[in-house]
Amino acid sequence: MTTATETTYFSHMNPNCAIATERTAARRADYRSWISALPPLDEDFDVACQRLVAKLGLGPKVIMESCAALHRLTQLPGLKNLQETLYLLDMRALLAIDRALTKLGTLAADKLAFIDAALVDFLTPTRPNQNFPTPAQIGRKVRDICRVIDKTVAFRDTRPKDTYTMTETGERASLELTTDSATGIILHQFIKDAAKEHNISTPEALKKLISGAIQPSATVILHTYQATDIPNAPTFVQGHEWTAADLPATRTRDLSAEPLESDSYVASELIRKFVEGRDGTCRALGCTRPAWQCQMDHRINYAEGGPTHPRNLASLCQHHHNMKTDGRAHYIMDPITGDVVWLFEDGTWAMTEPSGPLAPKTKRWAQTVAQKITADQKRAHDKAQQLKKELDEDARTPEPSTPQDNSTEDTEDIPF
Ligand SMILES: [Zn+2]
Repeated sequence: MTTATETTYFSHMNPNCAIATERTAARRADYRSWISALPPLDEDFDVACQRLVAKLGLGPKVIMESCAALHRLTQLPGLKNLQETLYLLDMRALLAIDRALTKLGTLAADKLAFIDAALVDFLTPTRPNQNFPTPAQIGRKVRDICRVIDKTVAFRDTRPKDTYTMTETGERASLELTTDSATGIILHQFIKDAAKEHNISTPEALKKLISGAIQPSATVILHTYQATDIPNAPTFVQGHEWTAADLPATRTRDLSAEPLESDSYVASELIRKFVEGRDGTCRALGCTRPAWQCQMDHRINYAEGGPTHPRNLASLCQHHHNMKTDGRAHYIMDPITGDVVWLFEDGTWAMTEPSGPLAPKTKRWAQTVAQKITADQKRAHDKAQQLKKELDEDARTPEPSTPQDNSTEDTEDIPF
């Protein structure tokens, strides 16, 4: 039997919650007032800014950034439509999206369409009372999307060169190595491992490693996740998020099916990596602590018969693990999807979906990214072939030596 309440919505828009309803009305009012105040792109911005400082009682920096974030929506029609239907994003979330996208510079229409579709997918509720991502989580998602898009651009560069620069200003010096993603991630891990082993800071570890004062560890261990059934699937590197780079694997594990139950309280490496790969972060609402830095919580205590198995384990950071252990909050978990529903003392509840590379929603996202990478590679290849064809044809038919009409424009004398 279905009831009217079985619709999908985010917890911060819960129609049965008075606070959520009020907050939605506040977001709608705030958004609409910004839209009314938004100066057109061709207006003198300094003048417009002064006008808005007076009207809104905010500083010029916030106004400038907020206007840019709102103008950004015109490039993302799907997201704009979603926002103007549900009013789910507040200004902090809109700023988080724009800040991440700004780093990519001017974006081609196909890339914007891809980002738009990915964001609409991410910000469309699929369950009732689903926990809404925080601005930090939204920013991270946009950066994930950007990272794979940036890598696609880099992929087209057929002659990537490593560079090393040393800058010295009299007081401070800076040494910078630019290299491919895979090498950079591995070198960084060597430095981090040395710092941890010798209990020193990373700058100190780098200085000591280079000067030979300490030795690097024999190997570094990187845990990566990559779908093997999707061509060109992006790779998730624990501690580094998503990358389109191919990282060499010395040992692989099959995580396509759930691992077997463990006899002991301590989860096996395989179970742990499965749970981390499913969860992505601490499963508490709004917590962004990466799952690999979390503890494995037995939802039903091991002593009370709870198995050491992904269906009874969730990643919780130390802080939220304490909250659960102290009995201040409880959760239940869907063993198939990994969805977690938190139950609060006041009788309310909210749901979080897993966000790691093994989570169903992320797998769908990885597939979309992989398809885009494949399509981009094909387009770049077709373009290169077309260019080759045109160059060959030009070589066969030399240009006539008559002057071109528009060439006079460049050489005309300036009349003053
Ligand atoms: Zn946490």
